[in-house]
Amino acid sequence: MPAAKSAKTTEHAVKPGLRVGVLALQGDVEEHLAALAACKAEGVRVKTVEELETIDGLIIPGGESTTIANLLERFKLQKPLLERAKAGMPVWGTCMGMIVMAEKVAGSKQPTLGLLHIEVKRNAFGRQIESTEEPLEIEGLDGKPFPGVFIRAPWIESAWGGAHILSFLEGKGVMVWQRNLLGTSFHPELTDDLRIHKYFLQMVSAAKQ
Ligand code: GLN
Repeated sequence: MPAAKSAKTTEHAVKPGLRVGVLALQGDVEEHLAALAACKAEGVRVKTVEELETIDGLIIPGGESTTIANLLERFKLQKPLLERAKAGMPVWGTCMGMIVMAEKVAGSKQPTLGLLHIEVKRNAFGRQIESTEEPLEIEGLDGKPFPGVFIRAPWIESAWGGAHILSFLEGKGVMVWQRNLLGTSFHPELTDDLRIHKYFLQMVSAAKQ
């Protein structure tokens, strides 16, 4: 990963005292909290503006992207979340989370946060890959391929501006990094491989310095 050039997962310790929020409106929240705990980081559920104010980074989990924008509106989180992300707070979206962070969703007018300079295609890999695990080569990630768990996953159709694709499956982008933002089509929280959670924690550490 390009960001890893300055923050390699193996070389930098994660700063103590970090609070990482997991957006807890729907989706696989508990799995992310468990992964954060396994990384010895404090993970907190985020449902309110007050909770959003206390965190140093945010994970938007997998779930159903057509309803999440309405939920963000209803819980009055959309504007404060955008403000914090634009001010540099690290945000990582997994699967649905990446869709909701994208600027464009192919063939759809569903509202998004418009943070990542990417166009995504939902449920893109077709039936044979509706739910599967694929070994992924990820730019800058040392060691063995990462076990990519895909569940009705989006792919990245195109990327522009500062968005940089870090991993491909079948020639399609499945991981993106853009300054303080990260998106994965797959679900690292459903594996016991903590490398991407640790990588995100380093982005959070770096942003706090
Ligand atoms: N297919 C879902 C959507 O488009 C995302 C699936 C997931 O997050 N696992 O919203």
